Amino acid sequence: MSYTLPELPYAYDALEPHFDKETMTIHHTRHHQAYVDNLNKAIGEKGLEEETLEDVLKTISKYSPAIRNNGGGHYNHTLFWETLSPTPKTEPEGKLAEEIKTVFGGLDELKAQIKQAGLGQFGSGWAWLFVKYNGTIGIAATANQDNPLMDTNITNQGYPILGVDVWEHAYYLKYQNKRADYLDAFWSVLDWSSVEKKYAEALAKVK
Ligand code: MN
Repeated sequence: MSYTLPELPYAYDALEPHFDKETMTIHHTRHHQAYVDNLNKAIGEKGLEEETLEDVLKTISKYSPAIRNNGGGHYNHTLFWETLSPTPKTEPEGKLAEEIKTVFGGLDELKAQIKQAGLGQFGSGWAWLFVKYNGTIGIAATANQDNPLMDTNITNQGYPILGVDVWEHAYYLKYQNKRADYLDAFWSVLDWSSVEKKYAEALAKVK
């Protein structure tokens, strides 16, 4: 088996003006494609075809940097695309909304903390909302293409349900060095219905 680049569920220009067409096109067809291609090369070398990517990432300390970087890159970008929408649900409801209120005090505080995590990540990486193995939610930042699934994290392990790519390739064409503006724009295309779905799936796994 080999990994393939998932189709985007919207057009490259669908997230304008927040995420521009050129960035989306290059990000998907070149950056994400490269992670897929290099993951397939690395998986072939290691003979890991039988493992799910999630299981590989959960035990990533056993594997090579090529699998860590490209397996993470494929997983992270797939999640990222799935949680964006040109017609997003702008606020969470139900159990996730209650959990956000309990842990952070409310949606505005969660957004502020994710922004802080993204701004605080030196160099390339991601900011995450994730479900810890004890069932509560938390925020983390990780370097490169790492994510909370990876056992190389000492703290902040769990299932990612929302991720913001803070590599410069995600924003530089439109926002240049203004990562803060990009992080603010992210909320205009973030679809909470997708995050709610991932939250429910993650909760089912940690129970
Ligand atoms: Mn990226």
